[in-house]
Amino acid sequence: MDNCQPLVERWVRPEIRAISAYHVPDPGKMIKLDAMENPYTWPEAMVQEWLERLRHVGVNRYPDPAACALSEQLRVAMDVPEGMELLLGNGSDEIIQIMAMALAAPGRAVLAPEPGFVMYKMIATFCGMDYIGVPLKADFSLDLPAMLAQIEQRQPALIFLAWPNNPTGNLFAAEDVEAILRVAQGLVVVDEAYHAFAQQSFMRRLGEFPNLVVMRTVSKLGLAGLRLGLLAGPVAWLREFDKVRLPYNINVLTQVSAAFALEHHAVFEEQTALLREQRTRLLCDLAALPGMTVYPSAANFILVRVQVGRAPAIFDGLKARGVLIKNLSAAGGLLTDCLRITVGKPEENDVLLAALRQLV
Ligand code: PMP
Repeated sequence: MDNCQPLVERWVRPEIRAISAYHVPDPGKMIKLDAMENPYTWPEAMVQEWLERLRHVGVNRYPDPAACALSEQLRVAMDVPEGMELLLGNGSDEIIQIMAMALAAPGRAVLAPEPGFVMYKMIATFCGMDYIGVPLKADFSLDLPAMLAQIEQRQPALIFLAWPNNPTGNLFAAEDVEAILRVAQGLVVVDEAYHAFAQQSFMRRLGEFPNLVVMRTVSKLGLAGLRLGLLAGPVAWLREFDKVRLPYNINVLTQVSAAFALEHHAVFEEQTALLREQRTRLLCDLAALPGMTVYPSAANFILVRVQVGRAPAIFDGLKARGVLIKNLSAAGGLLTDCLRITVGKPEENDVLLAALRQLV
C-alpha cells in the first residue's frame, strides 16, 4: 500500500532503509555450489532411525529452554574445555546478533577484516553500532598494523575474526590473532564456522585471554537446515549473553535431530573428509585453468580470481550449464573479478570443471 510509505520513512531508521535484504537466490534444480553446504544426505537406515526418534517428540510442549542434553553432547563433539560455558543459537547468525545486542550502545563499534562475512556488518547496523571494516592485504592475510591501529584508536566493543575467513577461505596467522587478543580491550570472537575443514582451533586456548570466545556452527558440517550455532567461552561473558537470548531459541525438532546426528558423528566425519579430498582436487584442477588465480583454502569453498571483467559471464555461463556458484565481483574492492565455489561431490565438481573449461 502506497500510503504506508510516509510512515515507513518516518519510523524505520535511515540506516535500515539504506541496506538491501540478504539475498538468497533460488537454486531450482541447479547443482548448488553457492552456500558452503555439505552436499551429502544420510544413509537410508539412519534416516529411518531419525524419523522413529521424531515420532516421540512432543511438539505440543515448549522445548527445553537450555537444551541441556544437546549442550552436553556439543561439549564433547566440539571439545569445549572444562569450566567453559556454552550458549546455543538459532544458527551462529543469532549468536552474532545476541552479542551485538548485549554490547550495543551509542558510539560503540564492531570491527572485522574486509572482505569478511557480511552478517557482521549487517547485524552491527541492525543494533545501531558503528562498523569498522579493516581491509585485508592483497593476498588476503591480515593487515596487522592496520588492525592494531584501528583497535587502539577506536576501541571496538566487538571484533570478529572468521577463522578460516569467508569469503577468502584462508586461515589468518595464529600469531596475528594472538596479537589482536593481547591489544584489544573489547570481546574478540574467533568464528570457527569452517572448523570441520580447517581442523585448527582456538577452542583449547579459551581461558588464556579474558576477551576470547569461540563460535562454531553445525551448518557446514552437514546440518545447515537445523539452524544451530554455539558460542564457547568464560561464564562471565556468556551469563550476560544468555539474558539476551530468547527463551526457546532452539526448537524441539532441532534439539532432537542435532542430538541424533551427533550420535552418528562418524557419518559426518566421513563426509567432511571426502570434501577435504575434493578441495585438494579442485584447488589443483582450478589452478590449471587458463587465466584463473586460485587462493589457498582451509574451508569447504575456494575463492578464485578470473580475468578482468569476466566474472559475470563465467557466473552466468555456469548457471546456464546448471551450476550455481557465488559471484562476488559486484562487491568490488579486493573481490573484483572474484568467484566463490563451494566444494561439492566428485560428480558435481566434474560438471563444474567441464563447464569452466568451456567458459574461461
Ligand atoms: N560465520 C561465518 C564465517 C559464515 O560464513 C557463516 C555462514 N555463511 C556463519 C557464521 C553463519 O552460519 P550459521 O548461521 O549457518 O550458523
